[in-house]
Amino acid sequence: MNKIIIQDRRPVGEEKYILTTNRPAGFNYYPGQFVMIGDTINGQFVRRAYTLSSHPSEDFLMFYIRRVPGGKMSNHLFNKEIGSEVEISESMGVHHSGHFQDLPRITYLVAGCGVAGVRSLVLEFKKRKKQRVVHQERYQEYLVWADLFRRYADYQPVLSRQKVAGIKNGHIEDYLSSWLTDETVYYIVGSLSFVRQIGQLVRRSGLNSIDIHSEGY
Ligand SMILES: Cc1cc2nc3c(=O)[nH]c(=O)nc-3n(C[C@H](O)[C@H](O)[C@H](O)COP(=O)(O)OP(=O)(O)OC[C@H]3O[C@@H](n4cnc5c(N)ncnc54)[C@H](O)[C@@H]3O)c2cc1C
Repeated sequence: MNKIIIQDRRPVGEEKYILTTNRPAGFNYYPGQFVMIGDTINGQFVRRAYTLSSHPSEDFLMFYIRRVPGGKMSNHLFNKEIGSEVEISESMGVHHSGHFQDLPRITYLVAGCGVAGVRSLVLEFKKRKKQRVVHQERYQEYLVWADLFRRYADYQPVLSRQKVAGIKNGHIEDYLSSWLTDETVYYIVGSLSFVRQIGQLVRRSGLNSIDIHSEGY
């Protein structure tokens, strides 16, 4: 277990926030991996998984977290003082850049906080692959890192609960057929039902040379 110090916390809309910490000496990871963050909450040690949004070339760690109503860790980290410490595990998870097949394209199909790992992956592949980021959110205020995604990828936001000129309205499945291509790594992350549904649609599409990495939580 490493200790990390909370250095910054930036709210994203009412429900989510970006947490930035120092990066412990010798802590290494691949884009797409997660860590377990642990701390004592009301006398009980609690651990939860959070995906790394920072890139290994950066000297800080970054997380994108949704405050789950009544949730222990997601609210604890929102309220914990800047400058205080929490524990993190080593990096974990197999859906990371080092395990992606060597294909020329990568398509991210993510919903909500499933976008957490996409920042790191987009920075990793910015010079090596054609990238398309499809991010479904409810409201525009949660379209985090939009400028970065626009710079390095074909960025396709979709809003399910708000109509905004120039942004698609609805759900990813409404537009999915126009975004599917072969010779592509697919990174599908969101709620369990989202991952099940979108994963099935991609698998049934009959595309060749595809490598699917999906995680639901
Ligand atoms: C591999 C992995 C990576 C993850 N990465 C991220 C990430 O980058 N960002 C992020 O915000 N979360 C991420 N999560 C989810 C995170 O680990 C926690 O489950 C989440 O923050 C809730 O923890 P909590 O302690 O606040 O809530 P808990 O105290 O565990 O739960 C409180 C209540 O909320 C319910 N609940 C828990 N999770 C959810 C949910 N997602 N939606 C609706 N209700 C829920 C529980 O059933 C319970 O009733 C990841 C999970 C996994 C497995």
